[in-house]
Amino acid sequence: MAPVLIVTGGSRGIGAATARLGAERGYAVCVNYLTAAREADALVAGIARAGGRAMAVRADVSVEADVLALFDAADRMGRLAGLVNNAGVLERQGTLLDMDAARLSRIMATNVVGPMLCAREAVRRMSTRLGGHGGAIVNVSSVAARTGSPGEYVDYAASKGALDTFTRGLAAEVARDAVRVNAVRPGFIHTGIHARGGEPGRIDRLAPSIPLGRGGTPEEVARAILWLLSPEASYSTGAIVDVAGGR
Ligand code: NAP
Repeated sequence: MAPVLIVTGGSRGIGAATARLGAERGYAVCVNYLTAAREADALVAGIARAGGRAMAVRADVSVEADVLALFDAADRMGRLAGLVNNAGVLERQGTLLDMDAARLSRIMATNVVGPMLCAREAVRRMSTRLGGHGGAIVNVSSVAARTGSPGEYVDYAASKGALDTFTRGLAAEVARDAVRVNAVRPGFIHTGIHARGGEPGRIDRLAPSIPLGRGGTPEEVARAILWLLSPEASYSTGAIVDVAGGR
């Protein structure tokens, strides 16, 4: 039976590219989404047409009951081997002066609490100490964790900083239990997230400051994620891999 991979926020962007590549590499993919049911269903159908196996599951990663239901659904597909904590949000660009407590809580709930809840459920299933067979977790952080995103979204950047710290801590905590935990830090990747921040042309504006001179594609990030999930990365844990064109 194919090993199971859960990709949170798999309906669009980097998550969709990761789900597609994961299926190509032989995983049965559990594609989590929040609102984009049509996109998630189309992705699952495309994977099936290509001879792979996938299932779409709606769940809000910031809601504990939803996370439990997501993992229960994935359990029905087979043995969980990988988790990609990809779901993430940002809100309109601005300064800290524009941000109220409700916004800060929304950002932290999806970008920090969500990945931590999902990682907990993955460790419960994968840890050899708990009877599992081991596995790998990849957290999708951001170069924003390094830059802080001043004037754009310091809240989002701080949430990704927390995810980096969580990656380091959990990696050490479960290393002896055959669970590897790593992160990728994408830079400026062509997805719809920039429009949601209020600036669809953000990558074009910033391209001159990127050493490689262009934004990246979701597929370029997905390849790094799939490498970290694979046995090729067997001696990497607690690593944070920048996929950011040199930024
Ligand atoms: P995107 O195109 O906006 O896709 C975001 C995905 O997250 C969607 O599938 C969305 O689901 C899902 N999602 C949002 N909130 C969720 C929740 N509470 N529960 C479950 N799923 C939820 O974004 P992207 O650019 O591909 O970003 C993916 C990850 O990469 C994020 O963590 C982001 O911070 C990170 N990243 C992106 C860039 C970039 O330049 N694009 C750079 C650095 C880091 P629905 O569509 O179903 O609502």
